[in-house]
Amino acid sequence: MSHTPHQSSLDLAERVGGLAQVCQVVANRPISTSLREIVLHGDVRLAGEPGNDVMVRVRSGDHHVRRRFSVRHVDPDAHRFTLWVSVDHEGPGSAWARDVEPGASLDVVGPRGKITLREADWHLFVGDVAALAAFYRMAEAIETPGRALFVVEIDHDDDALTARFDEGLGVTGVFVDRRGRHRDDPAGLLSGLAALELPEGEGEAYLFGEFHVIRAVRAALAERGLADDAVRHKAYFRLGRANADHGEPDKREA
Ligand SMILES: Cc1cc2nc3c(=O)[nH]c(=O)nc-3n(C[C@H](O)[C@H](O)[C@H](O)COP(=O)(O)OP(=O)(O)OC[C@H]3O[C@@H](n4cnc5c(N)ncnc54)[C@H](O)[C@@H]3O)c2cc1C
Repeated sequence: MSHTPHQSSLDLAERVGGLAQVCQVVANRPISTSLREIVLHGDVRLAGEPGNDVMVRVRSGDHHVRRRFSVRHVDPDAHRFTLWVSVDHEGPGSAWARDVEPGASLDVVGPRGKITLREADWHLFVGDVAALAAFYRMAEAIETPGRALFVVEIDHDDDALTARFDEGLGVTGVFVDRRGRHRDDPAGLLSGLAALELPEGEGEAYLFGEFHVIRAVRAALAERGLADDAVRHKAYFRLGRANADHGEPDKREA
């Protein structure tokens, strides 16, 4: 078992200002049809702030690629952190998550990500099941009293995973059934959002999901009067196109 990260991970960490470490997989279990929960042992600066992610180095055919996964939960005493990884598609990241066994070593670079919780009267989280880890970790960090609103699209009933929040947090959640719509079809999230009354006061929205869907949800929120700088968004993937080897979805127009 290697304890030294691959040179490319050390170089990457230096470039992006994170840390490269070899972590051990402690547990890997399905928590719904779409998601697996993977617990890693290692520090990686305890995966930063809620909303941050880590980059894992996984095999893709004869080479390696990076895939980014948000942190769901941190256990500082045990030096562990937890990921929720979507396996409802075919790719090197999902294959890794399906197959990796406890005891395996893994190159991890992190913490990464610029979208963390901002101060606001209410927080709106919109996205698909791959975003649940980030959404729940962020919502758990909201100071009470506060409000969290969720609109999350799921493919399977058991993907409607819930979380426990502080008593003082007002929580409104809508799970939208995709009903076979394509993953770049925003109709489900848009109708869930349309049914949601936005509270009074200052709100912040966080959108994580498919490239075109995020775009459409941004436009819908602008129409509802949310200022551009109150909407933080990140495309997690793009339908029909693998993320690049460094883990980012293709953002080209064509
Ligand atoms: C900052 C950041 C944080 C992220 N956090 C998480 C997280 O916490 N949990 C998580 O599961 N994912 C997360 N993602 C998304 C994940 O990194 C991508 O989905 C990644 O593409 C998966 O890699 P892959 O090798 O399985 O698929 P790829 O090789 O990238 O893609 C193969 C095919 O699968 C499709 N595909 C890829 N991802 C998905 C998906 N989620 N749903 C449906 N189809 C898909 C692609 O369109 C493509 O057709 C995050 C992405 C970013 C950028």
